[in-house]
Formats: sequence, C-alpha cells, structure tokens
Amino acid sequence: MKQEDYGPISGSTIFKGISGRKAIIMAANTRITTVAKGIFKAAKDTDSAVFMELARSECDLKGGYTGLTPKDFSEKVREAARDVEFDIWALHADHITIKKGDATEIEQTKQLIDAQVAAGYTSFAIDASHLFNFEGKNVREELGQNISVTTELAHYIKSRMKGKDFGLEVEVGEIGRKDGQGMVLTTPEEAVEFIRGLHANDVQPQVLAIANGSTHGHVYDEKGNVVEQLSIDIPQTKAVAKALRDNKLNVGIAQHGITGTPRELINQHFPKGDIIKGNVGTFWQDVVFDALKIYEPVLYKNIQDWTLDKYRAANPGKSDRQIVDGNCKFAIKEFFRELYAVDEDTEKAIQAKAYAESLVFFKAFSSYGSASLVRKVIS
Ligand SMILES: [Zn+2]
Repeated sequence: MKQEDYGPISGSTIFKGISGRKAIIMAANTRITTVAKGIFKAAKDTDSAVFMELARSECDLKGGYTGLTPKDFSEKVREAARDVEFDIWALHADHITIKKGDATEIEQTKQLIDAQVAAGYTSFAIDASHLFNFEGKNVREELGQNISVTTELAHYIKSRMKGKDFGLEVEVGEIGRKDGQGMVLTTPEEAVEFIRGLHANDVQPQVLAIANGSTHGHVYDEKGNVVEQLSIDIPQTKAVAKALRDNKLNVGIAQHGITGTPRELINQHFPKGDIIKGNVGTFWQDVVFDALKIYEPVLYKNIQDWTLDKYRAANPGKSDRQIVDGNCKFAIKEFFRELYAVDEDTEKAIQAKAYAESLVFFKAFSSYGSASLVRKVIS
C-alpha cells in the first residue's frame, strides 16, 4: 500500500519491516534541507527506507542552529518527499537531549515534544545519557536518572501521540565522551540494565544509541586536518548487540557519528542487523558547502568570514580551516535566507551530489529493497 500523500510513517513500522535482516537504515540530518530531494530520489530508485531527522540543537522552538523549527523542518522534508513521490520514510526527532534533568528542563522538553507531535513527527530519540551518576554503587544506580527521565518523556510522547504508533530511540552512554584513558564505551551490561530498566517501566524502544567510539562530525589530526574515523569499536558493538539479543530485549543499535567513517569499512565490517539505524549528519552539510565553494563563492566567502570572526577568539591555536570546519554549522541560521535562495544550478548540483552519495550509503548499509519489506508490514 502506498501512502497517498507521501507523508512520514512510524519509525516503529520501518524497524518492524527490516526485523531480522542484515540492513542499516540511513537517518539523514538534513541541516540544509536542499539535499532532501536527492536523498529521497536515491531512496526511491534503490527501494530503501530512510529517516529524516534533526537534533534538538539543530532544530527547536527557536529554530536551533539550522533556523528550522519542527514545523519548518516537517514542511520542507514533506514537500521533498511529495515532489519525488517517495513513501517509506520516518520523520525523526534526533537527540532530544536532557542535560540536567531538572523540572524546568523537563517542562521545556515537553513543549518541544508537543511541537514535534503537532508537526507530524513519527519517531523520537530521547537522549538523557548525560544524566550518568558517577557516584552510583552499581550499574543500575549509575543509570537510574537516565532511566527515570527517559521513562517520563517516553510516556509523555505516548500520551501525545494518542494511540498512534511511533519510533522510539533511547541512549545509554554519551556519544564521543572521553576520560583520561580515551573514549568511554558502553558495556554489554550497561546496555542490558538500561533496557531492562525501561521495560520494567513499560517503555519499549526499538533502537538504542550506545557510545562505541564514534564522534559526531569530523575527526581531526593534530594539525587540524580532517581525517577518517576508524575508532568505532566493532567487537564491542557486536558484544552489546549479542547481550541484548541473548536477553531477548528486542532492540537494535543506532550508530551515531558516521560522517567520517569510510564506507567500505561500513560495507564490509559493520555488523548490519545488529546496527539497524545509521545517522549521517555533517556529511550532508559538507555536500552543500562544497557546492557553494564553486557555485556561490561570494556566499561561501561570507559564511567563512562570519564564522572566523565569531569563533576565532574561542579557538586559540587552531587553524582557520579547522575553525571554519567545526563552526560553519552555526552560520546556517545566520545565512538562512541566502542558503535557501541559491541559483537553480546550485540546487541542481547539491541535489545530484546528495543523490549519488545516498546511493553509496544505501549500498554500504545494505538497505536496497528495505522499503518493500516495510510496505509488506503496512499492507
Ligand atoms: Zn547523534
């Protein structure tokens, strides 16, 4: 059955459709939504299910750093899906992050969720991983506040969705967190305790984000050059997935921070099916900015200058290139009008690049054919 209006379907339906398959569904953070059409077109041509998402930092009631509210984001990606006539996608709230867990923050978070539900979101990621109790005497105590806040918000989403199915992602282990010894990785025990704690509270997520060695955005060498990210710990990721499976917890893993990871590594070595959702964010921003360098050099120069002007003082010792690279995302809101008013030629180049790169992601993720699997669950 086809969704007549090409609107988003529940994230849970997509996960149900690919259950037991060795596939990863791409979740694209389209900070500048011009790429969305190219991504949907590739999804349609390869019969791949896809998630469109933005995190709370990128998109909130005030527009986040992309300048998009949940309503704006929803309208833009829906329009892209309609133009392309692609039906198997979910509209996902990435990283609904809670950092303190106090009453004010919870209240503001509920207002954000209200806006996301009103905008027709069909999937949600609650991220209370920052609420880690370092004084806890055991794993359960360490995760106690994460479990209770995640539970409260998951129940809130459920009540707001009024019986409609939705996707639910939760997070244990802050992605990219380091201590004196290096990256802090999620253990199988932590993942199992966390999901068990949620199940005991009647919260059933389909997907779990873990800390497994990835970092959001680009990774740099000591000179500030962008380098490949080879730090994802695949054996640890498999061990976490196995522990979840052995305990019949029925939850897959969301891999965050994929941008810098070589796709041949993903294709050949990622445990597809253990990892069921793969978030790609900064990559799509790079697609836009790379096109601007050639097609809109004045705009690109203005973005560079604004970013350096604003962020140089806070980044002593860093090269201009790294400062621009790491902070140009904050220019998206500042140059919103210009970014959405580029020439038709520019748009064409951005969309063609997004199309070609999406083909490669879908292939590397083994998600070709996944949209048809999902359609079988719907009909
Ligand atoms: Zn993330």
